[in-house]
Formats: sequence, structure tokens, C-alpha cells
Amino acid sequence: MQRAGIAELKKRVRKEKLSLVRLAWADPHGASRAKAVSIPVFLDALANGYNINVATTTLDSAGGRVFQSFTRGGGMGLAEMTGSPNLVIVPDPSTFRVLPWAPRVGWILCDEYFRDGTPFHFSPRRLLRKQLAKCKHDFIVGLEVEWYLARVVEEVSEQNVGAPGSRGRALRTAPFEPGYSYHSETGMDLMQPVLSELATAYGKLGLPLRSVENEWGPGQVECTFAAQSALDAADTMLLFRTATRQVCRRLGCFATFMARPALKGYYASGWHLHQSLSDRNGKNLFSSNDDLLSPLGKSFLAGLLAHAAPATVFATPTVNGYRRFRPNSLAPDRACWGYDHRGAMVRVLGGPGDPATRLENRVGEPAANPYLYIASQLAAGMDGVARKLDPGPRDDEPYAAERPMLPKSLGEALDALERDALFRREFGDVFIEYYLRLKRSELGRYDKWTEGRETSDEPTEWEQNEYFDFF
Ligand code: GLU
Ligand code: MG
Repeated sequence: MQRAGIAELKKRVRKEKLSLVRLAWADPHGASRAKAVSIPVFLDALANGYNINVATTTLDSAGGRVFQSFTRGGGMGLAEMTGSPNLVIVPDPSTFRVLPWAPRVGWILCDEYFRDGTPFHFSPRRLLRKQLAKCKHDFIVGLEVEWYLARVVEEVSEQNVGAPGSRGRALRTAPFEPGYSYHSETGMDLMQPVLSELATAYGKLGLPLRSVENEWGPGQVECTFAAQSALDAADTMLLFRTATRQVCRRLGCFATFMARPALKGYYASGWHLHQSLSDRNGKNLFSSNDDLLSPLGKSFLAGLLAHAAPATVFATPTVNGYRRFRPNSLAPDRACWGYDHRGAMVRVLGGPGDPATRLENRVGEPAANPYLYIASQLAAGMDGVARKLDPGPRDDEPYAAERPMLPKSLGEALDALERDALFRREFGDVFIEYYLRLKRSELGRYDKWTEGRETSDEPTEWEQNEYFDFF
């Protein structure tokens, strides 16, 4: 398959007269990093891979260097990480695209390996692949993502320039429309020229867009995508975010997937993950003829509830994302479930005989790393299946239900992950220890910033600078 893919790609590169191809990979935050290479180098990379610096794995969300890379063991006690060494990235031919907004530029997603061919232990895409390989069913995922469209009102200047581990002032933007006219057609039409460009770009990229709408906040947009198998869905999310941000900037606009920008009237954005298991013939295994969910679906749901606290780190990995978890906000505040209930953490959709029966987990923020978020859901759900867990009765008043509260901060969620046996077993101690350190570096900088300052429930200037233009 690799070989056929390569021959095909060679033809395509010539036919499209490409001048560069971006070799892209997912960093630990789920952001797309890339190097652009000439066509001969690209063709060589298809067969032999391409060297990159391991550094993007070791940087926190402000480019802060978290590990002492130049000491023995790379500050991680891992000989193979000493000295910020090279990795080899190997393009995955099935992910190739020609970028609609960048003439004659191709794009391909790569997997990371050490130079001796060992798969790279911190690769989020590999981590998801490993989870999928362990599961005998297909994991089917649908993306429902909210984000903000704004207009850029200043040129990038020295004030926006930061330093490693400290971002400059976030770029100033203006709202696209006044907001709070839910699903307003005229509100949407103010954004239509940009949304149309985006829809065209998603189409050319083969991203299975279903709908675009004007959400609640000023310039808040929601996009939904058709269900895909899990790895494709994760790749779709990575490309969707980076494509949206790039197309918008080229139009003088700004897109952010930060959950709650520190701007007047900005309501939280969520990333709801629709999920089900199907057999190899595509039959939905969560669907039942006489119940809301099959026994498999119920145990999977119970697994999501049982591991909700540690899994929150992967669904909501930023300081900012925890500001979503408020009562009566359409975002959950505790680990509960309901049937078609938008206040519950897991909203069951479908029902008896419905082949589209699925679980919508509403816990995620749009900035989450898609590979880790999706892998954590599968690990939690399948543990529920393995232990035949029972989710208990549904919660019709989710904000009053007697259920465990979700972590109230990134710190609480990281502590829950540190104590959790499931994710240590499934993702490996090496990955968990690494990830805890990475996220605690970000959290530590936030805590330092807040020292001596008064804070409230509102997002801070620190968050705005840290996340607005990173996600
Ligand atoms: N914005 C809400 C959230 O943060 C979701 C709104 C909706 O249900 O569409 O999850
Ligand atoms: Mg929505």
C-alpha cells in the first residue's frame, strides 16, 4: 500500500507542478508543525524519511523549554533523548493534499521515529494508533467543534513578540458580529464570505464538513463533520484547525480554537466528541433494538464516567479550558450522563433501532490534542467494557446529580492523571511522566503570573497571550 501510494504521489506532484511540500507532524499540543521541502527532497523523504529536531516535543505552549535537553538523558532520564537529537519523520502517503490556499504547495502528515527505526514514544499519532490496534472493533468518531472568527485590527509588531516560555501581547482583533442571536441568519451572513472560502478549502482538502453555523458568542462558529474512523477523524481535526487559521489570516481575519478568549462577551467554545464502536462490517455496536444502548454501549459509557477525572487532562489540556465547566452553561460540570441532554457530560443520542446511536462526550475544549483526546476516550471506554461497568441511571438534572465533579482546574486534572492506573498502563509511564511535566511547566508559569494578582472566574491576560494565537 505504501509503495502504490508513493508511485501515485510522484505522478501527482509532477501533474500539479508543485514547488514545495510541507512535511507536517503533530506536536504534543496537537498543533501542526511543518518543514517545507523541495520536490526532490520530498520524493527522497517518501522512501527514506526526513530528519527533524526532537525539540517540538519538548516545548510547552509558549515554546518554553521544559526539559534539560543538553544533559545526559535529555532531562528525562532517557538516553535516547540526550542532546536534542534528530528524529526521522516518515510521510504517510494517504494523508497527502495540495493546499488550496498556498499555490503549488503540497502537504503530508508524517510519523516520527528515532534514527534507528524505533517508533518515537512521544508521538501522539502513534499513541492513538496503538490504542486502535488493541481494540477489535472500529472506533467511529464525529467532530463537533466551536471556534471564534474575528477580524485582525493591527499589524504584528514588537509588542506581540515574546521569548521562549513567555508570549508577547496577543494580537488585537475586533468581533465579526455582535453575537447572542443564536443561529441568526444575518449574523451568519456577516461571516459568509470567510465561511464560504473555508468551506471550499475543506472540500478541496477532503474534510467531510456537514454544517457551519453561527453559534452563541460574537463571531462564534460551529462546524460539524461526518463520522469517520478514529485516526482519520484525528487527522481531520489537525488539518481543519490549521487550515482554518491559515485561510482566515490570509483574508485579514483571525481564527482561534482557544476555549474562552479573554475578550468582552466571548462565551466558551467546546469540542464535543461523538463516538461509537462498529464491527468490521460497519454495524453499530452501541445500537440496541429495545434499549437506549446495547450492553457494550452501556459499559463503554460507564468507562467514560469512571475515568472522567484523569481523562479530562486530554480533553481539556489548558488552564483556560477549565473555565468552561460551569453549571447551566451547556458545558458539563460533573461526570454524568443523560439522554439527548445538553447539560450532561455524556449525551446519549439515537436510541432503539437507530443505526446512528452514539455517545456525545461534551467534556472537550477545541484546543485539545485530537490524538490524545480520542485515544483517552477509547482507553476509558474499553476499560468499562473489559470490567462490564454499569453507568447507573441517567441524570435528568445533570447540574444537580450526585456524581463526581469534574476537575476544577488543570492542576486538579493533572493530579488525577498522576494517580490514575489506567492511563499509566495504556499510555505507558514514560509518556505520562513526560506529559505531566510538560503541562506542569505551563501551569507553573500561570501560577507564577497570578502570584500577588487578584483573579476571578474570568480568563486572564496571561491566558489570552498564551493561547489565543497558539491554538
Ligand atoms: N459552547 C458550549 C460548550 O462549551 C456548547 C454549546 C452547544 O451545545 O452547542 O460546550
Ligand atoms: Mg454548539
